[in-house]
Amino acid sequence: PSLRKPRYRVVLLGDPGVGKTSLVNLFAGVQERDLLDQHGGAAYERRLTVDGEETTLLVLDTWEPEQRGEESERRSRCLQIGNAYIIVYSVTDRDSFESASELRIQLRRARQAEDIPIILVGNKTDLVRCREVSEEEGQACAAVFDCKFIETSAALQHNVDELFEGVVRQIRLRQGGK
Ligand code: GDP
Repeated sequence: PSLRKPRYRVVLLGDPGVGKTSLVNLFAGVQERDLLDQHGGAAYERRLTVDGEETTLLVLDTWEPEQRGEESERRSRCLQIGNAYIIVYSVTDRDSFESASELRIQLRRARQAEDIPIILVGNKTDLVRCREVSEEEGQACAAVFDCKFIETSAALQHNVDELFEGVVRQIRLRQGGK
């Protein structure tokens, strides 16, 4: 008899251009038609083994920028359906860092009283000379917002596996050993 393996939905948030699609493409895995239809064309499912245990992550890259402050159905759905969130900014773009804080606040508002894992990600660390946000600032922000933090470079494939493994560990921590 096959044991049912846990499957978790992970939603990517962040400004356009920060590297969400690049990160999820490195994670990749299968794209099934029904998943794509269900999630508007950007869902990736992959099994990964972390600390000797297998987990399936369904990663959704469907976040879209706000249009003139208007509430969108898809945006509020994104904030509701995740079992975990990856909030991405670019270390070369301070505005995207400010947006990340704003997203954290929106998420807290949408999911009050829930303890959902959130990972703050500073991407594009390879662009050393264009850096506008220091690693210390990223860490401090994560501490204030009570989430995990990691810096990545999708271009150099640096820390990308670590990011997704970290997501799995954060989800498991909250399962309380179930
Ligand atoms: P999204 O809009 O957040 O999904 O961002 P994309 O993944 O489409 O990336 C936007 C642009 O930034 C593309 O031209 C990517 O090639 C580039 N990019 C993404 N990640 C990195 C990175 O880590 N380093 C560098 N140098 N460029 C990156």
